[in-house]
Amino acid sequence: MNLIWFRSDLRVHDNPALYAAMQDGPTIGLYFLTEMQWQIHNVAPIQQDLILRQLVTLSEELGALGVPLIVIHSSDFAGVIPAIKKAVTKYKIEQVYFNHEYEWNEAQLSELVSAQLETMNIRVKGFDDQCLIAPGKIYNKQGTFYKVFTAFKNAYLSELNEQSRPIYPLPAAQAKTDIQTDLSAIANTPIESLTNIDATEKDNWASLWPTDPGHALTLLERFVDEDILHYHELRDIPSIEGTSKLSAYLAIGAISVRQCYQAAIVISNALDNPGVKTWVVELIWRDFYRHLMVAYPEICRFKPFKMNTDQLPWKQDAKLFQAWCEGRTGYPIVDAAMRQLVATGWMHNRLRMVSAMFLTKHLFIDWRLGEQFFMQHLVDGDLASNNGGWQWSASTGVDAVPYFRIFNPTRQSQRFDENGEFIRQYVPELAKLDNKSIHQPNKQQQTLCGYVAPIVDHKTSVAQTKKHFKQLSDLIPNNTNKEYGLS
Ligand SMILES: Cc1cc2nc3c(=O)[nH]c(=O)nc-3n(C[C@H](O)[C@H](O)[C@H](O)COP(=O)(O)OP(=O)(O)OC[C@H]3O[C@@H](n4cnc5c(N)ncnc54)[C@H](O)[C@@H]3O)c2cc1C
Repeated sequence: MNLIWFRSDLRVHDNPALYAAMQDGPTIGLYFLTEMQWQIHNVAPIQQDLILRQLVTLSEELGALGVPLIVIHSSDFAGVIPAIKKAVTKYKIEQVYFNHEYEWNEAQLSELVSAQLETMNIRVKGFDDQCLIAPGKIYNKQGTFYKVFTAFKNAYLSELNEQSRPIYPLPAAQAKTDIQTDLSAIANTPIESLTNIDATEKDNWASLWPTDPGHALTLLERFVDEDILHYHELRDIPSIEGTSKLSAYLAIGAISVRQCYQAAIVISNALDNPGVKTWVVELIWRDFYRHLMVAYPEICRFKPFKMNTDQLPWKQDAKLFQAWCEGRTGYPIVDAAMRQLVATGWMHNRLRMVSAMFLTKHLFIDWRLGEQFFMQHLVDGDLASNNGGWQWSASTGVDAVPYFRIFNPTRQSQRFDENGEFIRQYVPELAKLDNKSIHQPNKQQQTLCGYVAPIVDHKTSVAQTKKHFKQLSDLIPNNTNKEYGLS
């Protein structure tokens, strides 16, 4: 009997490990519910709920293939090792299949599990699934990782035909085994962070982020049929559904990046079309941050890519931080963005940049606090992309925005939410203001609307931040590679 150990790959289509396991013989599926680990990794309750619902869908889809799925409660990663050994003995498993995960803890777990199972004479096979091209395969002429995204992207695009992992068909159904699907761990394990969520809120999550069979694929098809050709024009407007909203499903592996890429390029002359091209580049940003995380695993351990930026005198100010978290900064676009995050588990990409830059460059608060808050609320929380986005915005990352190019939130608002539609949706107290005032209400309007005054002054705070960065680069030039001991 073969076993597929499901992780962030909760799908039956284009799943390398599942496909290989079923090709090699009768297969059962296993998933470990690691509630404690979720807490340690700040997995948002909304994402936990998405995973639990997707597991039910996965069990149905696997059922149609004759594959039972067993969910086991194991608290944290340490508990996975004895639990998988026990399951291997119980179900008389000969071969274990899994798709690689590239985060530090997850990669360590794969190695430990493989080593332990091999001592039991179990064959273990790991597959590269999460990127179009597996991390570690795209290096520059010096044999090191690219430090500039455009150069990485060009190399990636030119290697895609040669090196992209294949797309895997749906496996043929197998004869039913005697082993029964068992999801009782989902119902029997009270997940602490979900126990206080009422039914109405959970219904809201389920309608925002459905997990019906085939949902993610339908979303992809609809996006490619209806929106992708205009993506480059509409993707920056938060009041419009101009992006795919696939990130939540990509994060838990309900759909693969390979499927996304494939769907985009089947459009004729696809990469000549600016919409398709721009979208594919976004998929490559996602892969870039995964490749980066493998090249510089310190990123998973709270370290900035530019090591010298750890010396910045970030402000400790709980009140300012709280105001940002709760959408009470007095900058309407930032507040609308933060309220969208808390209400829906998702934030528009342009606004992720605006709000991350506001926290780090206006409030001068450590990017790691923002990174953690995002993880705790995002339905698409993903260590590599979240860390990459935060370090880009904070100017601490690889190919990050230069520290002196600081977004003016009011100008961003005027440019990308011209008529204030997005602000009106999430900051209803400002809804009656005219299209001009809504971006920056004056004192009288603030009082009238019951809206807060700006918690910091744009010009002063930005000048102070630039001073800190300038002093830092004068005092301690960045020498990332040396500090990491990497070539
Ligand atoms: C501060 C910050 C934090 C972020 N945190 C996350 C996160 O935790 N999880 C996450 O998936 N994305 C994150 N992103 C990237 C991006 O904002 C989201 O992927 C995107 O908004 C998801 O919406 P979509 O699926 O409609 O994307 P689309 O615009 O349709 O793009 C398609 C896919 O490409 C990938 N993608 C798009 N933009 C980026 C990007 N800038 N970086 C990396 N991948 C990208 C995503 O997988 C996305 O689903 C973050 C960005 C910033 C600036």
